[in-house]
Amino acid sequence: MLINIIPERDRAKILALVNEKWKPIYLREKRSLLVHMLSIGAYHDSSLIEYEAAEKVIGEKIHVQWWTARDERVCLICAARHGKIYTRAEVKKMGIPHPGCRCGLLPYFADT
Ligand SMILES: [Zn+2]
Repeated sequence: MLINIIPERDRAKILALVNEKWKPIYLREKRSLLVHMLSIGAYHDSSLIEYEAAEKVIGEKIHVQWWTARDERVCLICAARHGKIYTRAEVKKMGIPHPGCRCGLLPYFADT
């Protein structure tokens, strides 16, 4: 089950964030947001893990390029990150994305 791959401390943070920021939303919608946050968090985490593994195989430093859905639903936080290059460590520090985030993390070769 997806929730099992999210560390316990992150689950608590996600739930606290959802409860604080989205309190007026009905329980069903809160559950949906929680599941979405867990899945996008797992998606980002798996991208970072795969890029780290690929870096070891090809011997080239792989950074991350933040990529939004590029539409009117992109939030201001993600819009400011669109196209920017980050180290994997920087992305890890950014933490879990907000509810509804649809952003992807593209591999970016540091020497390009
Ligand atoms: Zn986003």
